[in-house]
Amino acid sequence: SVPLAFFSGIGAGSKKGILFKGGIAIEGLKNVKAIVMDKTGTITKGNFVVQKANPAGNAMTANDLLAISASCELSSTHPIGNSIVDAAKEKGLSIERPSKVEEIAGHGIRAELSKGVVLCGNRKLMDEQNVDLSSYQKEDFGTEVLVVLNGKFVGNIVISDTVKEDAKEAIAAVKKQGIITAMLTGDAQESADAVAKETGIDEAHAKLLPQDKLSELKKIRESHGAVMFVGDGINDAPVLAGADVGAAMGSGADAAIEAADVVFMNSEMKAIPEAVSIAKMTNSISW
Ligand code: ADP
Ligand code: MG
Repeated sequence: SVPLAFFSGIGAGSKKGILFKGGIAIEGLKNVKAIVMDKTGTITKGNFVVQKANPAGNAMTANDLLAISASCELSSTHPIGNSIVDAAKEKGLSIERPSKVEEIAGHGIRAELSKGVVLCGNRKLMDEQNVDLSSYQKEDFGTEVLVVLNGKFVGNIVISDTVKEDAKEAIAAVKKQGIITAMLTGDAQESADAVAKETGIDEAHAKLLPQDKLSELKKIRESHGAVMFVGDGINDAPVLAGADVGAAMGSGADAAIEAADVVFMNSEMKAIPEAVSIAKMTNSISW
Protein backbone atom coordinates (compact mmCIF):
# COMPACT_ATOMS: atom_id res chain seq x y z
CA SER A 1 0.00 0.00 0.00
CA VAL A 2 1.04 3.59 -0.59
CA PRO A 3 1.59 5.58 2.64
CA LEU A 4 -0.97 8.35 3.03
CA ALA A 5 1.57 11.18 2.76
CA PHE A 6 2.50 10.08 -0.76
CA PHE A 7 -0.99 10.72 -2.08
CA SER A 8 -0.54 14.47 -1.71
CA GLY A 9 2.71 14.24 -3.70
CA ILE A 10 1.17 12.09 -6.43
CA GLY A 11 -1.71 14.59 -6.66
CA ALA A 12 0.59 17.63 -6.73
CA GLY A 13 2.62 15.95 -9.46
CA SER A 14 -0.36 15.15 -11.66
CA LYS A 15 -1.39 18.82 -11.67
CA LYS A 16 1.99 19.62 -13.23
CA GLY A 17 2.01 16.74 -15.69
CA ILE A 18 4.37 14.69 -13.51
CA LEU A 19 3.35 11.04 -13.20
CA PHE A 20 4.90 9.33 -10.16
CA LYS A 21 4.43 5.59 -10.54
CA GLY A 22 4.17 5.18 -6.74
CA GLY A 23 5.59 6.23 -3.39
CA ILE A 24 9.03 4.70 -4.00
CA ALA A 25 9.66 7.22 -6.80
CA ILE A 26 8.88 10.12 -4.45
CA GLU A 27 10.97 8.67 -1.61
CA GLY A 28 13.91 8.07 -3.96
CA LEU A 29 13.75 11.55 -5.44
CA LYS A 30 14.03 13.18 -2.03
CA ASN A 31 17.60 11.87 -1.66
CA VAL A 32 18.89 12.50 -5.17
CA LYS A 33 22.33 14.19 -5.25
CA ALA A 34 22.91 14.17 -9.01
CA ILE A 35 20.64 14.45 -12.01
CA VAL A 36 22.00 12.83 -15.14
CA MET A 37 20.33 13.48 -18.48
CA ASP A 38 20.39 12.17 -22.02
CA LYS A 39 20.92 14.95 -24.58
CA THR A 40 18.87 14.31 -27.70
CA GLY A 41 15.13 14.51 -27.06
CA THR A 42 15.63 15.21 -23.36
CA ILE A 43 17.57 18.49 -23.18
CA THR A 44 17.16 19.25 -26.88
CA LYS A 45 13.95 19.09 -28.89
CA GLY A 46 15.25 16.26 -31.06
CA ASN A 47 14.06 18.12 -34.16
CA PHE A 48 17.07 17.82 -36.44
CA VAL A 49 17.30 20.06 -39.49
CA VAL A 50 20.00 19.77 -42.18
CA GLN A 51 21.91 23.06 -42.41
CA LYS A 52 24.25 22.19 -45.24
CA ALA A 53 26.00 19.47 -47.22
CA ASN A 54 29.75 19.99 -47.73
CA PRO A 55 31.22 17.81 -50.47
CA ALA A 56 34.95 17.05 -50.03
CA GLY A 57 37.02 18.55 -52.85
CA ASN A 58 35.15 18.35 -56.17
CA ALA A 59 34.19 14.70 -55.98
CA MET A 60 30.48 15.53 -56.26
CA THR A 61 27.96 18.34 -55.85
CA ALA A 62 26.24 19.16 -52.55
CA ASN A 63 22.99 17.72 -53.95
CA ASP A 64 24.69 14.47 -54.97
CA LEU A 65 26.15 14.18 -51.49
CA LEU A 66 22.73 14.75 -49.93
CA ALA A 67 21.10 12.25 -52.31
CA ILE A 68 23.49 9.36 -51.59
CA SER A 69 23.26 10.10 -47.84
CA ALA A 70 19.47 10.10 -47.98
CA SER A 71 19.50 6.79 -49.88
CA CYS A 72 21.78 5.33 -47.21
CA GLU A 73 19.55 6.66 -44.40
CA LEU A 74 16.23 5.78 -46.10
CA SER A 75 15.28 3.03 -43.64
CA SER A 76 16.90 4.60 -40.56
CA THR A 77 14.71 5.25 -37.52
CA HIS A 78 17.26 7.67 -36.01
CA PRO A 79 16.14 11.35 -35.97
CA ILE A 80 19.46 12.29 -37.62
CA GLY A 81 18.79 9.88 -40.50
CA ASN A 82 15.22 11.11 -40.84
CA SER A 83 16.38 14.73 -41.16
CA ILE A 84 18.70 13.82 -44.05
CA VAL A 85 15.91 11.99 -45.89
CA ASP A 86 13.56 14.94 -45.31
CA ALA A 87 16.10 17.46 -46.65
CA ALA A 88 16.67 15.42 -49.83
CA LYS A 89 12.91 15.03 -50.40
CA GLU A 90 12.39 18.77 -49.89
CA LYS A 91 14.93 19.44 -52.63
CA GLY A 92 13.22 16.92 -54.90
CA LEU A 93 16.38 14.78 -55.16
CA SER A 94 16.06 11.19 -56.31
CA ILE A 95 16.52 8.71 -53.50
CA GLU A 96 17.47 5.09 -54.20
CA ARG A 97 16.34 2.17 -52.07
CA PRO A 98 19.49 0.29 -50.95
CA SER A 99 19.82 -3.42 -51.69
CA LYS A 100 21.25 -3.99 -48.20
CA VAL A 101 21.31 -1.87 -45.02
CA GLU A 102 22.94 -2.26 -41.63
CA GLU A 103 22.46 0.15 -38.70
CA ILE A 104 25.52 0.46 -36.49
CA ALA A 105 24.23 1.43 -33.00
CA GLY A 106 25.75 4.61 -31.64
CA HIS A 107 27.78 5.07 -34.83
CA GLY A 108 25.69 5.35 -37.98
CA ILE A 109 24.51 3.27 -40.90
CA ARG A 110 25.93 1.33 -43.89
CA ALA A 111 24.06 0.72 -47.14
CA GLU A 112 24.70 -0.88 -50.53
CA LEU A 113 23.63 1.32 -53.46
CA SER A 114 24.14 1.07 -57.22
CA LYS A 115 27.10 3.50 -56.87
CA GLY A 116 28.67 1.28 -54.20
CA VAL A 117 28.86 1.00 -50.42
CA VAL A 118 27.92 4.13 -48.47
CA LEU A 119 28.69 4.74 -44.80
CA CYS A 120 26.99 7.61 -42.94
CA GLY A 121 27.99 8.23 -39.37
CA ASN A 122 30.10 9.96 -36.79
CA ARG A 123 33.81 10.52 -36.42
CA LYS A 124 34.10 7.47 -34.19
CA LEU A 125 32.74 5.23 -36.96
CA MET A 126 35.19 6.71 -39.48
CA ASP A 127 38.13 6.27 -37.11
CA GLU A 128 37.18 2.65 -36.47
CA GLN A 129 36.96 2.02 -40.23
CA ASN A 130 40.35 3.76 -40.77
CA VAL A 131 38.85 6.23 -43.25
CA ASP A 132 41.31 8.85 -44.54
CA LEU A 133 39.83 12.15 -43.33
CA SER A 134 42.57 14.49 -44.58
CA SER A 135 40.07 16.36 -46.77
CA TYR A 136 37.52 16.69 -43.96
CA GLN A 137 36.90 20.23 -42.74
CA LYS A 138 35.30 20.32 -39.34
CA GLU A 139 32.42 22.72 -38.77
CA ASP A 140 32.26 24.56 -35.49
CA PHE A 141 28.55 24.01 -34.92
CA GLY A 142 25.97 21.28 -35.01
CA THR A 143 26.04 17.54 -35.29
CA GLU A 144 27.93 16.21 -38.26
CA VAL A 145 27.35 13.13 -40.36
CA LEU A 146 30.46 12.06 -42.28
CA VAL A 147 29.83 10.29 -45.57
CA VAL A 148 32.01 7.65 -47.21
CA LEU A 149 31.53 6.10 -50.66
CA ASN A 150 33.49 2.92 -51.44
CA GLY A 151 35.95 3.63 -48.64
CA LYS A 152 36.60 7.23 -49.66
CA PHE A 153 35.48 10.25 -47.62
CA VAL A 154 33.14 12.29 -49.86
CA GLY A 155 31.83 14.97 -47.52
CA ASN A 156 29.93 15.88 -44.40
CA ILE A 157 26.41 16.98 -43.59
CA VAL A 158 25.83 19.56 -40.87
CA ILE A 159 22.66 19.13 -38.86
CA SER A 160 21.35 21.24 -36.02
CA ASP A 161 19.05 20.52 -33.13
CA THR A 162 17.85 23.14 -30.64
CA VAL A 163 17.89 23.20 -26.87
CA LYS A 164 14.41 23.23 -25.25
CA GLU A 165 13.31 26.77 -24.26
CA ASP A 166 13.09 26.00 -20.54
CA ALA A 167 16.35 24.00 -20.29
CA LYS A 168 18.57 26.76 -18.93
CA GLU A 169 16.06 27.83 -16.30
CA ALA A 170 15.42 24.23 -15.25
CA ILE A 171 19.14 23.50 -14.81
CA ALA A 172 19.58 26.68 -12.75
CA ALA A 173 16.67 25.59 -10.50
CA VAL A 174 18.13 22.10 -10.03
CA LYS A 175 21.52 23.57 -9.07
CA LYS A 176 19.76 25.82 -6.51
CA GLN A 177 18.36 22.64 -4.99
CA GLY A 178 21.98 21.62 -4.36
CA ILE A 179 22.01 18.90 -7.02
CA ILE A 180 24.86 18.19 -9.48
CA THR A 181 23.89 18.01 -13.18
CA ALA A 182 25.45 15.87 -15.90
CA MET A 183 24.72 14.90 -19.50
CA LEU A 184 25.39 11.56 -21.23
CA THR A 185 25.33 11.39 -25.01
CA GLY A 186 26.41 9.32 -27.97
CA ASP A 187 27.09 12.53 -29.85
CA ALA A 188 30.50 14.21 -30.35
CA GLN A 189 32.23 16.04 -27.48
CA GLU A 190 31.88 19.38 -29.32
CA SER A 191 28.07 19.15 -29.58
CA ALA A 192 27.87 17.96 -25.97
CA ASP A 193 30.03 20.88 -24.77
CA ALA A 194 27.94 23.40 -26.72
CA VAL A 195 24.72 22.17 -25.10
CA ALA A 196 26.33 22.05 -21.63
CA LYS A 197 27.56 25.62 -22.04
CA GLU A 198 24.21 26.89 -23.27
CA THR A 199 22.26 25.28 -20.41
CA GLY A 200 24.76 25.45 -17.53
CA ILE A 201 25.04 21.66 -17.08
CA ASP A 202 28.07 20.81 -14.90
CA GLU A 203 29.48 17.76 -16.72
CA ALA A 204 29.20 16.63 -20.37
CA HIS A 205 30.11 12.99 -21.12
CA ALA A 206 30.14 12.34 -24.89
CA LYS A 207 30.77 9.59 -27.46
CA LEU A 208 29.07 7.00 -25.26
CA LEU A 209 27.65 3.77 -26.61
CA PRO A 210 24.30 2.71 -25.08
CA GLN A 211 26.10 0.30 -22.69
CA ASP A 212 28.65 2.99 -21.69
CA LYS A 213 25.86 5.22 -20.42
CA LEU A 214 25.09 2.85 -17.53
CA SER A 215 28.74 2.53 -16.44
CA GLU A 216 29.14 6.32 -16.58
CA LEU A 217 26.01 6.71 -14.44
CA LYS A 218 27.46 4.29 -11.87
CA LYS A 219 30.66 6.37 -11.68
CA ILE A 220 28.63 9.51 -11.05
CA ARG A 221 26.72 7.71 -8.30
CA GLU A 222 30.01 6.63 -6.67
CA SER A 223 31.29 10.19 -6.54
CA HIS A 224 28.08 12.09 -5.71
CA GLY A 225 25.43 9.73 -4.25
CA ALA A 226 21.91 8.81 -5.39
CA VAL A 227 21.17 9.68 -9.03
CA MET A 228 18.10 10.38 -11.08
CA PHE A 229 18.47 9.67 -14.82
CA VAL A 230 16.20 11.46 -17.29
CA GLY A 231 15.98 10.01 -20.79
CA ASP A 232 13.73 9.37 -23.76
CA GLY A 233 15.19 6.75 -26.08
CA ILE A 234 14.97 2.96 -26.43
CA ASN A 235 18.70 3.00 -25.68
CA ASP A 236 18.01 4.73 -22.38
CA ALA A 237 15.86 1.94 -20.88
CA PRO A 238 18.77 0.09 -19.15
CA VAL A 239 20.09 3.36 -17.68
CA LEU A 240 16.61 4.30 -16.44
CA ALA A 241 16.33 0.91 -14.74
CA GLY A 242 19.84 1.21 -13.27
CA ALA A 243 19.37 4.68 -11.75
CA ASP A 244 18.05 5.25 -8.21
CA VAL A 245 15.18 7.13 -9.88
CA GLY A 246 14.46 6.81 -13.61
CA ALA A 247 12.46 9.55 -15.33
CA ALA A 248 11.25 9.51 -18.93
CA MET A 249 10.01 12.28 -21.16
CA GLY A 250 6.38 11.68 -22.26
CA SER A 251 7.43 12.14 -25.89
CA GLY A 252 9.93 9.29 -25.55
CA ALA A 253 9.99 5.67 -26.65
CA ASP A 254 7.53 3.24 -24.99
CA ALA A 255 10.45 1.22 -23.60
CA ALA A 256 11.79 4.31 -21.81
CA ILE A 257 8.37 5.21 -20.38
CA GLU A 258 7.89 1.64 -19.16
CA ALA A 259 11.32 1.50 -17.50
CA ALA A 260 10.81 4.83 -15.69
CA ASP A 261 9.62 5.53 -12.12
CA VAL A 262 8.49 9.03 -13.08
CA VAL A 263 7.13 10.33 -16.40
CA PHE A 264 7.20 14.00 -17.41
CA MET A 265 4.07 14.03 -19.54
CA ASN A 266 4.71 17.45 -21.13
CA SER A 267 8.36 16.61 -21.94
CA GLU A 268 9.45 19.86 -20.34
CA MET A 269 12.76 20.31 -18.54
CA LYS A 270 11.11 22.41 -15.83
CA ALA A 271 9.33 19.28 -14.61
CA ILE A 272 12.71 18.08 -13.23
CA PRO A 273 13.09 20.72 -10.44
CA GLU A 274 9.31 20.63 -9.87
CA ALA A 275 9.42 16.88 -9.21
CA VAL A 276 12.30 17.38 -6.76
CA SER A 277 10.39 20.09 -4.85
CA ILE A 278 7.24 17.99 -4.70
CA ALA A 279 9.23 15.02 -3.37
CA LYS A 280 10.92 17.14 -0.69
CA MET A 281 7.63 18.68 0.43
CA THR A 282 5.78 15.39 0.43
CA ASN A 283 8.19 13.74 2.80
CA SER A 284 8.21 16.64 5.20
CA ILE A 285 4.46 16.42 5.78
CA SER A 286 3.83 14.47 8.98
CA TRP A 287 0.53 12.72 9.46
P1 ADP B 1 22.10 9.99 -28.79
O1 ADP B 1 20.60 9.79 -28.60
O2 ADP B 1 22.74 10.43 -27.51
O3 ADP B 1 22.45 10.85 -29.95
P2 ADP B 1 22.63 7.44 -30.25
O4 ADP B 1 23.26 6.21 -29.69
O5 ADP B 1 21.26 7.34 -30.79
O6 ADP B 1 22.77 8.53 -29.06
O7 ADP B 1 23.56 8.00 -31.44
C1 ADP B 1 24.89 8.32 -31.19
C2 ADP B 1 25.52 8.95 -32.37
O8 ADP B 1 25.69 8.01 -33.44
C3 ADP B 1 24.72 10.08 -32.98
O9 ADP B 1 24.91 11.30 -32.31
C4 ADP B 1 25.29 10.11 -34.41
O10 ADP B 1 26.53 10.78 -34.41
C5 ADP B 1 25.55 8.63 -34.69
N1 ADP B 1 24.44 8.01 -35.41
C6 ADP B 1 23.54 7.12 -34.92
N2 ADP B 1 22.67 6.72 -35.86
C7 ADP B 1 22.99 7.41 -36.99
C8 ADP B 1 22.46 7.44 -38.33
N3 ADP B 1 21.41 6.71 -38.71
N4 ADP B 1 23.08 8.26 -39.22
C9 ADP B 1 24.13 9.01 -38.86
N5 ADP B 1 24.67 9.03 -37.64
C10 ADP B 1 24.12 8.23 -36.70
MG1 MG C 1 17.95 10.37 -26.94
